[in-house]
Amino acid sequence: MAQLIDGKQISTAIKEELKEKVSSLKEAGREVCLAVIQVGDDKASSVYVNNKKKACEYIGIRSLSYHLPEETKEEELLSLIGKLNEDASVNGILVQLPVPAHIDEDRVIQAIAPMKDVDGFHPQSVGALSIGQPGFVSCTPAGVVALLKRSGVAIEGKECVVIGRSNIVGKPMALLLLRENGTVTVCHSKTADLKEVTKRADILVVAIGRPQMIDASYVKKGAVVIDVGIHRDENNKLCGDVDFASVEPVASMITPVPGGVGPMTIAMLMNNVVEAEGMQRV
Ligand code: NDP
Repeated sequence: MAQLIDGKQISTAIKEELKEKVSSLKEAGREVCLAVIQVGDDKASSVYVNNKKKACEYIGIRSLSYHLPEETKEEELLSLIGKLNEDASVNGILVQLPVPAHIDEDRVIQAIAPMKDVDGFHPQSVGALSIGQPGFVSCTPAGVVALLKRSGVAIEGKECVVIGRSNIVGKPMALLLLRENGTVTVCHSKTADLKEVTKRADILVVAIGRPQMIDASYVKKGAVVIDVGIHRDENNKLCGDVDFASVEPVASMITPVPGGVGPMTIAMLMNNVVEAEGMQRV
């Protein structure tokens, strides 16, 4: 039986550590602050924004909330971001994606000052990661590395295979595993023989966006399997990109869905906000 990698427990430990850090910063007269902007009333976005506010509250981070109407003009949003960039009391700025279709998402991402880009989506943050310079890292892949490290999985020298090459998960995931000295292969929809590649993996990270597609036939015996996917199955139950029942007997370690990668994303966002405060003091 595979050992479960408990994202709930690990993310709670990270949040507790951050809570202590923020409390000692407060004693030194320093306040950490995140600005969260939501445009429109997308239901899933409202849930994510609310969870982020709750996490801030728990850790002791001040959160500023800007809920703008659906018809907000791009210039208005960019102007708000500009003001928050200039506001020294704001350490991190997050625009909940997706934004309504009439707003150019790339322009929004690029408007956020890289020093406050706690989502790690700005091209400067992505470039810094690829050339090994300090900068913010996209929260979900950063969460995967934290899960591996805190579960005692050595990445150095391992065959790491990432399925998926999106800008927010697959690509930064591959760069992070490379930074940790893994030997990294990235697969995507044009990969000729997916199973042949994934069966080489000591560490398999699945971010394919297809419910329960990866079964035991894709997995080497003893592999560590990380499932980034989140979906609802036909019974409205949460499931991942990995067929857990099939893969669990083959893997040595595996993340469940829910309770694996999911809770790590917010914990890493909180970590980025606290780091931002430190970086801006220098
Ligand atoms: P995308 O849809 O943007 O990317 C999916 C990737 O998988 C693409 O690179 C695509 O290839 C590849 N792919 C799709 N089908 C196949 C296939 N049959 N064979 C091989 N590769 C394939 O998804 P995201 O990266 O945004 O998200 C991935 C998953 O992670 C989703 O389930 C999402 O819900 C979840 N997620 C979870 C988060 C969390 O906090 N836990 C946060 C973000 C995402 P190509 O590039 O060629 O199209």
